Amino acid sequence: MSAPRAPLRPLDDALAELLRQAQTLEGTETVSTFEADGRVLAGDLISALQVPPHDNSSMDGYAVRSSEIADEGVALPVSQRIPAGTAAEPLLPGTAARIFTGAPIPSGADAVVMQEDAEPAGEQLVRIMRVPTPGQWIRRSGEDVSRGAVVIAKGERLSAAALGLAASIGMDRLTVRRRPRVALFSTGDELVMPGAVPPEQMKPGAIYNSNRFFLSALLRRLECEVSDFGIVPDRRDATVTALREASRDHDLILTSGGVSVGEEDHIKPAVEALGSLDLWQIAIKPGKPFAYGKVGGSHCMGLPGNPVSSFVTFLLLVRPFLLELQGATRLVPVAMRLPAHFDLPRMDKRREFLRVRRDAEGGVALFPNQSSGVLTSAAWGDGLVDNPPGTSIANGDLVSFVSFAELLA
Ligand code: AMP
Ligand code: MG
Repeated sequence: MSAPRAPLRPLDDALAELLRQAQTLEGTETVSTFEADGRVLAGDLISALQVPPHDNSSMDGYAVRSSEIADEGVALPVSQRIPAGTAAEPLLPGTAARIFTGAPIPSGADAVVMQEDAEPAGEQLVRIMRVPTPGQWIRRSGEDVSRGAVVIAKGERLSAAALGLAASIGMDRLTVRRRPRVALFSTGDELVMPGAVPPEQMKPGAIYNSNRFFLSALLRRLECEVSDFGIVPDRRDATVTALREASRDHDLILTSGGVSVGEEDHIKPAVEALGSLDLWQIAIKPGKPFAYGKVGGSHCMGLPGNPVSSFVTFLLLVRPFLLELQGATRLVPVAMRLPAHFDLPRMDKRREFLRVRRDAEGGVALFPNQSSGVLTSAAWGDGLVDNPPGTSIANGDLVSFVSFAELLA
């Protein structure tokens, strides 16, 4: 029995439609800056101070008035010693101040002579061996952050560096968007959990559930709270029961498998028993079937069962959707143009996402088997080449590469 074929939907249309459906979730929480890695900032972070707070030395050496050192070899008395963390006295005319990295520049001084360019001459005298230029080795107050500036904008996902930057303006707590709550389940009677049956005792037709592992990891990387409902049997009633329970308190129900229109595919009728679901045939390879709908207040997405399709569809559609739920502003990574170090003479009508790996020559190599069931391609690869429909690739052609380092972050 063949179901009517829906027209293929371009990926960009599908994504735009999903993002229209996604509303930023209500609710923020204030967490320790230590715990905010990967979370989305709920409001602009504005600095109440200058960073650095005062002009300071970027070297161990001597603070001087540059106008007093016309020639190398000038000897100056050392009038004070300024370690980091202390307050400096004004620099007495005709003297130098011993100074250390990070210590405030004394008023009157306009340059630092690094200690490698100075020779102590007796107890309290230093000889300057290189004529300083005004301003040298001084880090200016506010050169990193000026008071009142937006240091990190609302909607940014916080990186390790951003946590440090927030701390540098005195923030020990940050207000971030709440985590999306996601219910995850796998469908398929052939699926067995690793650990439940040893490899040598697997029945014919049985396979291990691999999607559950990467989907769970991907969701957690996107700061989701995951409720794992495990494997739901290929039966309408069991699927309805699981969906009903999941819809109670989750923002998204994410399923893998069972999303086609065969009689073993129960996601569509089960979701329709409780809410609504549209099956989309997306014009991408791998990963054609995809479902979006609603059950109660929950969004519902059905990913294809083939592991690589599931993986790629998650990255292209579910990831930006989850970031949108969190109010993030950057939803998709920037692609790079890199030379292909392979030939792809065949072309596909669909936009294709090839699993590739960067090589030492600055290009990308293709995993030889691009089948949607071959998960090795995704584990071997370090990114995807986004190849437009109907495009063959010859060695040396520039292709559009998106790194897993960004897509999996
Ligand atoms: P389906 O979309 O349910 O028709 O599944 C398509 C293919 O993906 C079949 O070969 C399934 O056995 C396989 N598959 C479905 N779910 C999983 C899973 N969780 N882990 C590994 N393979 C799966
Ligand atoms: Mg199935």
